[in-house]
Amino acid sequence: YQHRLDQANAVIETQQAELDKLNTDALIGSLTRIPNRRCFDKRIGEELSRFRRHGQTFSLALLDIDHFKNVNDQYGHVVGDRVLRAISGVLSSDLRNSDFAGRYGGEEFVMILPETDWQEAIFVVNKILHKIEKARFRYEQLNIAVTLSAGITQVSPVDTEAVSIIARADSAMYRAKEIGRNQVCANEPDGSPAATE
Ligand code: GH3
Ligand code: MG
Ligand code: MG
Repeated sequence: YQHRLDQANAVIETQQAELDKLNTDALIGSLTRIPNRRCFDKRIGEELSRFRRHGQTFSLALLDIDHFKNVNDQYGHVVGDRVLRAISGVLSSDLRNSDFAGRYGGEEFVMILPETDWQEAIFVVNKILHKIEKARFRYEQLNIAVTLSAGITQVSPVDTEAVSIIARADSAMYRAKEIGRNQVCANEPDGSPAATE
């Protein structure tokens, strides 16, 4: 009996490991190795219900690589992919435990900063932008510089669903693109554009 029990336990352990791997694969991008869109959708839903139940605030940042099409056109998609992975690494390093950084799609990233207001979020994201601006992504003989534009907002009582928060961050991000890229813009929780500098 003991032998059969051990065998059965071994099978369960293997299956649990396989299941864990499948669950991880479903939430982590194979290219970037950071959480994917599905993972973000789940997380923002959790943060939003925490806010609505307990009033615990959070800020959201959308980050988009500037002129990334040029990187692909100039160096090819293989190099473009490497740059995406390198930037993913920068975004996910130096994060607080409770923070979230993931890939929103394409060359766009998203961060959730719990218990952080939009002013603090500007500070945090500016630091990341400076770090990426200074970094050089090396690949073979290439030495590639990239920058990001970011849009920030903070959750507000009008947000009953994630879409309105994302839309506010998105419009701030487009403003950052319009006024010159490589910078952060924010929309206040009530939707009004914030003075950034
Ligand atoms: P902007 O500063 O306005 O954001 O310019 P952009 O060139 O970054 O924006 P655009 O939306 O025109 O192009 C996005 C580019 O990102 C085009 C697409 O090929 C590239 N891209 C998206 N996902 C991937 C990917 O997984 N790998 C690579 N190599 N490129 C990607
Ligand atoms: Mg884009
Ligand atoms: Mg872009």
